[in-house]
Amino acid sequence: MGVKVVKFGGSSLAAAEGFRRVKEIIDADEKRRFCVPSAPGKRFSEDTKVTDLLYRCYSCLQRQLPMDEEFDRVGERYRQIASDLSLDFDVEGMLEDTRIKMLDQPTPDFCASRGEYMNGRLLAAYLGWDFVDPAEFIKFDRHGAFASEWTNETLSEELQKHERAVIPGFYGSFPNGEVHTFPRGGSDITGAVVARAVEAEVYENWTDVSGFLMADPRIVEKPKGIDVLTYRELRELSYMGATVLQEDAIFPVHHSGIPTNIRNTYDIHHPGTMIVSDGRKFPARYPITGIAGKKDFTLINIVKDMMNSELGFGRRVLQAAEELGIPFEHLPTGIDTMCVAIADHDLDKRLNQLLNRISELCQPDSIEVTRGLSLIATVGRGMVSSPGNAAKIFGALYQAGVNVRMIDQGSSELNIIVGVASADFEKATRAIYQAFVGD
Ligand code: ASP
Repeated sequence: MGVKVVKFGGSSLAAAEGFRRVKEIIDADEKRRFCVPSAPGKRFSEDTKVTDLLYRCYSCLQRQLPMDEEFDRVGERYRQIASDLSLDFDVEGMLEDTRIKMLDQPTPDFCASRGEYMNGRLLAAYLGWDFVDPAEFIKFDRHGAFASEWTNETLSEELQKHERAVIPGFYGSFPNGEVHTFPRGGSDITGAVVARAVEAEVYENWTDVSGFLMADPRIVEKPKGIDVLTYRELRELSYMGATVLQEDAIFPVHHSGIPTNIRNTYDIHHPGTMIVSDGRKFPARYPITGIAGKKDFTLINIVKDMMNSELGFGRRVLQAAEELGIPFEHLPTGIDTMCVAIADHDLDKRLNQLLNRISELCQPDSIEVTRGLSLIATVGRGMVSSPGNAAKIFGALYQAGVNVRMIDQGSSELNIIVGVASADFEKATRAIYQAFVGD
């Protein structure tokens, strides 16, 4: 029988009601044998996530102030869950033990990790499953780099001993046993690590939305959902601003070819979005898979006659940016022009410095700067094989009266990026969506 790994985000496990749903989901499929929970998230918009409360505890400890008030708020969350579920579990014992250990090891990672640890303990008790502490089996080297192969081997061996187990997300430990966390939101990574270790047939990532949408619903009214997405498309879309899940959060499953299924805890029967390695088996419904975009870019257009025959020109432009530690996003080039698109937050008031350095190094005929630019990426594996997609994008933008300031078609043909004035961002996104998907 195949195995499914299920990861539940903090919004899915914020209160007892969420625990009941999780059990319902798990009971519906006996292949769901390993479960990775986050810490309890927000129950309502002004609520505070347990992880944030725990960071506040740490900050008290660091300033040698009592953490009692914040820790009580943490305790209340677990007490409430356990009592609402009528759980036969020693919550007070767990809280007291955790409190003492936090006083003993006042590191931000240890304190924050206790959110997942305690939620995992409660969930294991509620499901009647084994509890596996990732501090023993998920390791980082002493510089904090994730030890993927060691972890995979050790965790795989351990999980074979358990028919069903809860493994808390977000943390592991250094070689000396000291707890270390993944970056914020890192339970997604733990889920992927566990899925790889048990060679799962699918990694189900349960959250509070039904997967990815073809466009941002704040811009396009009721955009269609994406049923199948490839990992490469996911990377392109999330890089360009689509949220839900970052590709780098699920690298262990991506590299092992295990599909990830984004599901909605509040809409159990919705199939969500399936993320796969090889999109060829899943013919795309539309030539495009999704549209995403980001605002606040600056475009530097460098013009020089006979640039094409001047050896090293491009290198010198990039050298200027590199010397100032400024990364660039895109680099569309013409015969005598070269454009560099840079995110404003990277430029950080150093525009003049950069222009001066480019002038010194490259002696261009002119440099033109366009500020307030937005980039919109139209992404889709279906674009490779169907003609006329670029024409459709530019036709739609023309019809909408949007002036295109920059074009960049990725060499993979998976992605066509256009730069438009930020004032046109929403209009342009809607026009492209309309052209490919309709109403
Ligand atoms: N609880 C952690 C956070 O809030 C990790 C996670 O939820 O994935 O970032």
